[in-house]
Amino acid sequence: MVTIGSSAAEMTAVTPLLDEPGVFTTAGLHPNSADQWNDALEAQIRERAAHPRCVAIGETGLDWFRDHVDRATQTDVFRRQLALARELDKTVTIHCRDADEECFPLLVAEGPARVILHCFAVPHRLDEAIANGWWCSFAGNVTYPKASDLLLAAARCPADRLLLETDAPYLTPVPHRGTPNEPAYVMDTLRAVALVRGVTPEELAAQVEANASAAYAIV
Ligand SMILES: [Zn+2]
Repeated sequence: MVTIGSSAAEMTAVTPLLDEPGVFTTAGLHPNSADQWNDALEAQIRERAAHPRCVAIGETGLDWFRDHVDRATQTDVFRRQLALARELDKTVTIHCRDADEECFPLLVAEGPARVILHCFAVPHRLDEAIANGWWCSFAGNVTYPKASDLLLAAARCPADRLLLETDAPYLTPVPHRGTPNEPAYVMDTLRAVALVRGVTPEELAAQVEANASAAYAIV
């Protein structure tokens, strides 16, 4: 289980959880907060990245949907975190919303060896993501009736490139919609994706666990 720390407050909040078996974390700054980047925060990210349970830099990326932080600032802070991931040989977990035109080329040119597209939302670019060697992480919205293209992408994503996530408290999967999402509900997403892939939930769970170990370089 990877619990995300993509702000100063989140990195502090998850600290007690890192004593729990099987819980890992990330260090980074979310694009919606990119204007909070400063030397002290970079130092905090570097310190957390050195923690044995910290397996990625992120969420980082670009968000043109919520654009209260200007694009130049988002891009600058994204590129700094890509460089940090390369320097520290960390995976990056990518938040990319309505910005794949700019995000994909930056990842190709400046990304580290391991890239996870969190809350995968570009089914028309699945083949490109796979060709680049990235992992695609599907969230609860894959269960929504209007998301058939996303479900189709989850069906044909190569087995070794597929991840599942909650994005809690957002994107609550069917049948819990209307309530805040929580980590346990990832099982509903798992069942929906297993069904469309024609495998048992147990088989898919084992596959996703192996994929997560590879994606985050957890040994
Ligand atoms: Zn996100």
